[in-house]
Order: sequence, then C-alpha cells, then structure tokens
Amino acid sequence: MTSQRTFVIVGASLAGAKAAETLRAEGFDGRIVLIGAEPVRPYERPPLSKEYLRGEAEAPPFVHGEAFYDEQQIELVVGHAVTRLRADEARVELDDGRTVDFDAALLTTGAEPRALPVPGADLEGVYLLRSLQDSDAIAARLQEGGRVVIVGAGWIGCEVAASARQKGLEVTVIEPQSAPLERVLGAELGGFYARLHSSHGVDLRLAEGLARFEGDGRVRAAVTSSGDEVPCDFVLVGIGVAPRTALAAEAGLAVDNGVLTDARLQTSAPTVFAAGDVANAEHPFYGTRVRVEHWANALEQGPAAARAMLGADSRYELLPFFFSDQYDSGMEYRGHMPEGYDEVVFRGDVDSGEFIAFWLKGDVVQAGMNVNVWDVGDDVEALIRSRARVDRGALADPDTPLQQLAASGGSATR
Ligand code: NAP
Repeated sequence: MTSQRTFVIVGASLAGAKAAETLRAEGFDGRIVLIGAEPVRPYERPPLSKEYLRGEAEAPPFVHGEAFYDEQQIELVVGHAVTRLRADEARVELDDGRTVDFDAALLTTGAEPRALPVPGADLEGVYLLRSLQDSDAIAARLQEGGRVVIVGAGWIGCEVAASARQKGLEVTVIEPQSAPLERVLGAELGGFYARLHSSHGVDLRLAEGLARFEGDGRVRAAVTSSGDEVPCDFVLVGIGVAPRTALAAEAGLAVDNGVLTDARLQTSAPTVFAAGDVANAEHPFYGTRVRVEHWANALEQGPAAARAMLGADSRYELLPFFFSDQYDSGMEYRGHMPEGYDEVVFRGDVDSGEFIAFWLKGDVVQAGMNVNVWDVGDDVEALIRSRARVDRGALADPDTPLQQLAASGGSATR
C-alpha cells in the first residue's frame, strides 16, 4: 500500500460494501475501514421478504464472499456501531472506544423501521422485518404455519403476505389506506394489488387502523380501530422506515428527511459523503432532492459516492428504480412523481396481469411500471427522460413502439 489516505465507511450495508469494492476497483490503495453495527458481513435485503424468508435460498444473500474483504484489504468491522462522527476533526468514534481518523467518510447508515405505538406492541411474537436476523426469526414462524396478522400494506407487508400465503398460512393484512401500496402507486395500481392478494386468499382489512394487540406475554390477537378482534399466532409490522440521521445531525451536517447531499453525494461537510436510504440527494433530472429507499439506489449510489470520494466530478442521475415479486406477479417500476400524477394509462390487459402502467402529469409520462412484461425497462426510462408529450391512444397501443413516443410529440419543459 502506498497511499496514506484513510476512507471510512459507516454502515456495512449494500451501499457501503459496493462503495468499498468500487474504491479498490478504481485503484485506491489507501486504508478502507467499513464499519457495521450488525454482527454479520454486508447483505442484500430484497430476498429477506421473498425467497430467503420462504426458506428457498441456500445461503444468506451476502454481498460478497467471506474472503473478499481480506483479499481486498478492506478492514471490515462488524458488531460495532459508530457512536460519533466528528466532521470537524475528521474522526469517527466506535462503541468500544476505538477512533478512526479519516480523509473522507461515507455515511451509508440506512433507515430504521418504525415501531407501532399501540398497547401490546412489545408482546412476544410481534415482529419488524429489517435485518437478516429479523428474517430468520420470521422464517422460523412461517415454517410453523398458523395465522399471521400483517400491519401495513406497503412493500414489506405485501411481499411478506405473499410469502406467507405461499407457505400456506392464514394471512390478515390491516392497512389504513383504501388500497395496498396506495401512497406510492395510487388508487389504480393499489386496486390491482388488492385484487392480487384477495385472489390468493389474503383477508385484506383496508381503511382500517390497528388499535392494540392482546395476549398474555405472547400476542394472541390484533384489535382493529373499529373493534374487530383478529386472532393470530404472530404479527408482522411493516409501517415504513425513517432514515438514520442521528450521527450526521449530531455532527452538524445539514439534515432534512435524510442527510442532504449535492448531486456528487457530498454532504454539507466537504469530507463526508452519503449514499443509500439515508441520502437525500440533489437529482439533476428532477432539479430537486430525492431520497430513495430501494435496493437499486443502494447498489448504484454506493459506487457513485466512492468515485466522488476519489475526486470524480460525476453527478448521480439514475432514475429511481425498484422491483417487487408477489406470488407469480413480478414488476419493475421506474420514475418518480414529486408533483403527483393526473392519470394512469395502461398498455395491455390489467386483468390478465400482464401490462405496463404509465403515470402522466399533463401529457408527460412521469413513471412506468411493467408487470409480467419484460425487457421494456430501457424504453420506459427513455420515454420518461424524453419528457415528450404523448398521445394517450398511442401510449395504450402495444403496436406503437415506446421509442417512437419518446422521439415524437415535442418535449415539455419541467
Ligand atoms: P412502506 O413501503 O413505506 O409502507 C408502509 C405502509 O404501512 C404504508 O402502506 C403505510 O400507509 C402503512 N402504515 C403507516 N403507518 C401505519 C399504521 N400506524 N398502521 C398501519 N399501517 C400503517 O414501508 P415498509 O413496507 O415498512 O418497507 C420498509 C422499507 O423497505 C421501505 O423503505 C421500502 O421501500 C423498503 N422495501 C422495498 C421493497 C421493494 O423495493 N420491493 C420491498 C420491501 C421493502 P401510509 O402510506 O398511509 O403511511
């Protein structure tokens, strides 16, 4: 090793691990310290609510093999939290008293699942799902069968409901909105997911809150806001996450719905960068800050931040992307709708379960989601990026190539 520089990555997550990998791939030969509070090496989360949860995977979804970190001379510190970031002194402090001085630091601290503030939420058998350990615990309950109540029909709630039905459990989902995934996808696609889950035997209690859990030490029932008692053997709460910003805030970094960064992922402290769920980053395409809580963002922003730490002058401008698999329905979503949408246009037959949905604001496509239709992602992305004014009939017509729509129609200004 010739460089004397030290780069510290706080958060042994997907974003953190990919950043470390990229630093070496780009030729950085200084010291890399990757620190994580969990007792295991970095892993990916998407399988934790899907195949890994159902016991279909041979091994945990680690980002790298065990030998990778030694081979790459990356100092992986697991099982220890960073308790303090001193941006002014360029130093982090760990929970065991160790300190590491850095030339640049990357915050990939992710997000914390929200707990449900109702009586009985601390009973045994009430689970959150965020970590590998959480997934292992819930997987063991799925193996036992029985009845599960899921609170929240967001991504975690929907994917675990599907996995639990696939394992043969009785599933009740309690969600305050009138459709699953409604806040992200709107009522039209929320309705699609409501029908998907109902048709697979999920008891959906929509527009319904959760008042309390009952049990004697161990949860036995969930009581809804309207007073229905739903007996259960265990509960999963999936009601969203909050970005872990405490270290950044205490260090005096600018924080507002995440750690604020510019398009290079640099925070308000010049030697500190942020990536993944925790980063609220300037997005050149949208001209505003965007914080994305999905796998693809961690996968891509970690490397982008690593390149910025090495001095690259590149801006992170990939469109938000995520995917989900529920039962035999797979989908990919691209785009972002900071100002909402006016209308959804469908290409294909929604009832057949194979279609593309486009969200429009005015005549311009803001987001697209392909459901059991594949190899269209690049075209959907190009259409969004074109900001072309589209004809709704042509957009709905599978015989009109999406490239043609992107190339025609005159681009709208933002
Ligand atoms: P989420 O997708 O934000 O969904 C949370 C759901 O819980 C929403 O439907 C929300 O409704 C509902 N909710 C909020 N407060 C509630 C309450 N008091 N009682 C009942 N329901 C309530 O969050 P998540 O499902 O917990 O997932 C956690 C994180 O993992 C998210 O960042 C998510 O994006 C990510 N994730 C992504 C994927 C994927 O990309 N496929 C899969 C799994 C997890 P409101 O909208 O009304 O608040």
